[in-house]
Amino acid sequence: MAQNDDNLLKKITGHAKEYGFIFPSSEIYDGLAAAYDYGQNGVELKNNIKEYWWKAMVQMNENIVGIDAAIFMHPTTWKASGHVDAFNDPLIDNKDSKKRYRADVLIEEVVAKYEAKIAKEVEKAKKRFGDDFDEAQFLATNPNVKRSQDKIDEIENRLGTSLEKGDLADIKALIEELGIADPVSGSKNWTDVRQFNLMFSTELGSLAEGANKIYLRPETAQGIFVNYLNVQKTGRMKIPFGIAQIGKAFRNEIIARQFIFRMREFEQMEMQFFVKPGEEMTWYENWKAKRIAWHKALGLGEENYRFHDHINLAHYANAATDVQFNFPMGFKELEGIHSRTDFDLKAHEEHSGKKLQFFDPEENKSYVPYVIETSIGLDRMFLAIMSASYTEETLEDGSERTVMKIPAALAPYKVAVLPLVKKDGLPEKAREILSDLRFDFNCQYDEKDAIGKRYRRQDAIGTPFCVTVDYDTMEDNTVTIRDRDDLSQIRISIDELKSKLKESCALEGLLKKL
Ligand code: ATP
Repeated sequence: MAQNDDNLLKKITGHAKEYGFIFPSSEIYDGLAAAYDYGQNGVELKNNIKEYWWKAMVQMNENIVGIDAAIFMHPTTWKASGHVDAFNDPLIDNKDSKKRYRADVLIEEVVAKYEAKIAKEVEKAKKRFGDDFDEAQFLATNPNVKRSQDKIDEIENRLGTSLEKGDLADIKALIEELGIADPVSGSKNWTDVRQFNLMFSTELGSLAEGANKIYLRPETAQGIFVNYLNVQKTGRMKIPFGIAQIGKAFRNEIIARQFIFRMREFEQMEMQFFVKPGEEMTWYENWKAKRIAWHKALGLGEENYRFHDHINLAHYANAATDVQFNFPMGFKELEGIHSRTDFDLKAHEEHSGKKLQFFDPEENKSYVPYVIETSIGLDRMFLAIMSASYTEETLEDGSERTVMKIPAALAPYKVAVLPLVKKDGLPEKAREILSDLRFDFNCQYDEKDAIGKRYRRQDAIGTPFCVTVDYDTMEDNTVTIRDRDDLSQIRISIDELKSKLKESCALEGLLKKL
């Protein structure tokens, strides 16, 4: 996948709409910015991603359980978590174009340019040195690379310090020093940088009753923290243990673009792992390893992932990293893994007056556990899969096809059953096969158009297998099974179909790799 491939993102967006994966929200009214609806195929893929995550977290770990907390929470929750006072993004407007940007994102884009320069140098050197190429040594010694890396470090350090101190004037100064121009107009005529709180608020109860201001949760994590004690006690959980949750989160993002990468309503899959203070670094490393294994098991290409450690940590964290994915726009955050210390539980203790501790029988004392968090955006995961799967191919006969090489276990449909012709009992036979397979798999039936056209339709939505019923089927109970990726067609007995599909499409195959 090429970096910064705007064209690819456009193609994926178009394909997602044309084939029922994702539609713009309320499209008949011209849509709503940064809100999207998942269509008939999208919802299947999304559910499968959720299932893969949930099973990997909850079913495969005896010390992790799930919850499903309400989106509305007591407003003090957000005071305690720091979101009321500090969940801000720095925004800046261009006076000429009247366009609004996130000041930190404008600066990060300069960093991305230097990163792209380094990647190019590495590519060139790889070609020059062939098998003898030592990437680590090259990165440490090449003067061009070092110059770019120094610049990256300098910019990131300065941005991080200014963000942490809330020094908005310095962020503006940095934008000016870097000569950043509005990507739309090319103008460098900027306003001052201002803070903007990202939480959506609404009123609970009628105005007559004296309505209370409440927030739509900006992250699912707090629903876990406030339930820490409920789960620990009722589940008789012993440290270390985790609580997992999948749910909607809302952020009034200043600029929401790049399709489903940055939305105002999105879904998160989060897990908070409670550990003994002092053991957090071991668990942090452990979860980094586990989460990257979860990603890589999908086979979307190992080279498409990297860790990006936070140099400037949030005040409550003592270690943090992003799992970045090579999206069409370049490497960007897909998942965050954070060591959050005891910040959240302590803050909730202070604001609620309730003890949120664990009595450790071995140590014979109580303590507030430390927390390792893994937090992944479901929609970003969806985009990662769509972008790695989207493939345009020219076949041997010169014809073209667009195929979604979605990992089989996550594909919306596992198999399409297709009668070769619409007569002579073939449709009935095909439906008989379908009615048996549908207990185990999401299946499609299609009898319209020539078989080639039907194959293309399945390729476009990522169905890994097509089963064709022909005249031989009526004689010997065998069918042709066509593989989406290598286009091979083999003849197998109908009795073997289920096990063949299970072997290739069951989630079990992915979970066993973890
Ligand atoms: P970013 O820096 O991209 O704004 P973040 O660091 O604020 O992200 P977190 O608060 O760590 O994100 O949220 C955890 C995960 O939730 C992110 O890794 C991402 O996958 C997802 N996420 C966050 N904001 C959005 C959004 N606006 N749209 C879609 N997914 C999001």
